[in-house]
Parts: sequence; structure tokens; C-alpha cells
Amino acid sequence: MLPTLQKQQHPLATGAAQLARLHAVRLERSFPRALDGAGLWPLQPTGIDILQVNVGKKCNQTCRHCHVDAGPDRTEMMPDDVLEACLAVLRDHPIPTLDITGGAPELHPAFRRLVTTARGLGRRVIDRCNLTITRLPNYRYLPAFLAEHQVEIVASLPYYQARQTDTQRGDGVFEESIAALQELNALGYGQPGTGLVLNLVTNPVGAFLPPAQAAAEREWRERLGRQHGVVFTHLFTITNMPVSRFLEHLDERQQTEAYLARLAQAFNPAAAAGVMCRTTLSVGWDGRLYDCDFNQQLDLPVESRVPRTIFEFEAAALAGRRVAVAPHCFGCTAGGGSSCGGALDG
Ligand code: SF4
Ligand code: SF4
Repeated sequence: MLPTLQKQQHPLATGAAQLARLHAVRLERSFPRALDGAGLWPLQPTGIDILQVNVGKKCNQTCRHCHVDAGPDRTEMMPDDVLEACLAVLRDHPIPTLDITGGAPELHPAFRRLVTTARGLGRRVIDRCNLTITRLPNYRYLPAFLAEHQVEIVASLPYYQARQTDTQRGDGVFEESIAALQELNALGYGQPGTGLVLNLVTNPVGAFLPPAQAAAEREWRERLGRQHGVVFTHLFTITNMPVSRFLEHLDERQQTEAYLARLAQAFNPAAAAGVMCRTTLSVGWDGRLYDCDFNQQLDLPVESRVPRTIFEFEAAALAGRRVAVAPHCFGCTAGGGSSCGGALDG
């Protein structure tokens, strides 16, 4: 398994170094200027519909393109007081969705409490699941637990074939992921009429934009159904963000400039209007607030005029914030757009 950038003490291990690298790329126009041309500058949220909580950077995998630089050697884990503050915010404010991410979020010892409390408050809960975690001996309870609490699963699977998936995620990951999907299907996930949502997420295996989402979904449905009997609700196609390990991957191949230029050239005003930071507030493992999980990994916090930790949460001030942007944001606005919920134009 690959070591994380942090473990390697890689120069791009810090958010500041990544931001400096991104800002060093000369582009035809900056992201703020592109937004301005679309009548969207300064970029502001339309509300807070999703509280996305990153409970820690520990993961059982070290995928090549991980924007979190997650892996087994990471130790960051959300402390109890931060977790309680997240739940208090949900209790006190009508935010409809809790989106739990990591690392592998299920590795957090309080994962079950977070899920059951939020569901008890009547909130929609999303688990960003890497699938293989459900195959580990201590986590075999997960499929039935998630089904019992009607947790929506967003599961990452780079491709419907083993070679491409294993290249990105590690040997044997594809086979384990298919076994996990089959088990989830047997519990009703992805099956019509059960209400158990199983969405798959795919990202390109290299430095190119994802295919059109609707066509890719048809292809995946056919291939996974025919070859493995797997069904799912929707397929989300997401763009690889030039952050953390994918930025390192680009740099190593001297592709950073070309990739960012490609993203910038593909700027789509309609996608820009729908970027996820307009509806999401992201919480880091230590309670700091960010406009999105990508900004979180770049140590780019919410602007200084608004509350900057979950302990100081103030809905009106945060909903009125100006989003902090940088060149990586072109990854959200290229082509069909990209977000944690896939392409923005379907
Ligand atoms: S991409 Fe997901 S599964 Fe892979 S290392 Fe990162 S957090 Fe873990
Ligand atoms: S990277 Fe984050 S801040 Fe930038 S456009 Fe995307 S969601 Fe918004």
C-alpha cells in the first residue's frame, strides 16, 4: 500500500504548499474573473442545505487520487466535543442533510452515534463509503446497520472493470467492492421501491474530464448488471481535483499546467452557478469550518468575517459568507460540472 504524502514528508503534503503550487500556474484568466464573467462574483451560498462533516483522515486504503491524503497512517480523528457540536447544530437548525465523509468515516468510533442521532432528528444522512471497509472483520455490521437506519450510501468505484479500479485504489479492491455491492443489493440497496439509495461515484483514471454522466450511467448499469448482477440508484461522474495526491500525480508527470488549463478552458457558467459550496458547509475533524472538503484539504478556511469553528456556528452569518476560491475551483466548473453529487447538468 502506498504511503500518504504526509508519511513521505512530501513537499506537497501541506495545504499551503499545494495552494502555492496552484497559484504558480499561469492561466488565461483567474477563477474570480471567470466567475465575474458569469455574474457570480463574489461567490455566495444560496443557503446551508448540507452539513458535510469530515470525521477524520484515517482510511483502510491509500488511493492514488485521494484529495484528503487519507490512509492507514493518518491519525486525525474528530474529538467528541466537535462531534457533539456538529450534532447540536443539526438539532438547533433546520439543515436537512448530514453528509459524513473522511477518510473512511466508518472508522470513527462514534460513527454509529453520529448516524443514529442525526436519523433520530429526522435528517437525511449520507455515508461516503469506500465499500471495502464493509468487508473488514470489525466492520461487517455496516451493511445491515446502514440499511436499518436508511442511510444513503455514496460509494466510490473508479471503474466497472478490475484493472482500472485496482490501479487507482490498490490490488483486490475491485473484487472486494463488487462483493460489498452484492451484499448491499441483497439488503435492498439500489433496488427499486426499497428507498435504500446506493449511488456510485466514478472519477477518471487519468488527467482528463469525466464522460457525460447520463451516458456513463447507462453503460455502467449494463456492465455491472450483466457481469456481476449489481444494481445501483445513480452514477455520479466527478472530476479529479488538482489537490493533494492527484496534484502530486500531475506534478510527477509534468501535467499540472496542462490539466489546469484544460479545466479552465472548459469553464461552464451553468456549472458555476451550481457548485456545491453554495449549499454546503464543511466541518473539519478539528471543528474548523470550510466552504467545501477540497478547501478543507488545502487549509483554506471560510472567510475571516464569519464564524470559523462549529462551536461558533451562526447560520445567517455563514449563509451570507463569501466563498474562498483558488485555481482548483476550476475542477468544479469544467464541462458538465462536478460536485460530491456528481455532474451538475445531469
Ligand atoms: S479516496 Fe477515499 S477510499 Fe481512497 S484513500 Fe481517499 S478517503 Fe480512502
Ligand atoms: S472547490 Fe470548493 S470552493 Fe471551489 S468551487 Fe468547488 S466547491 Fe466551491
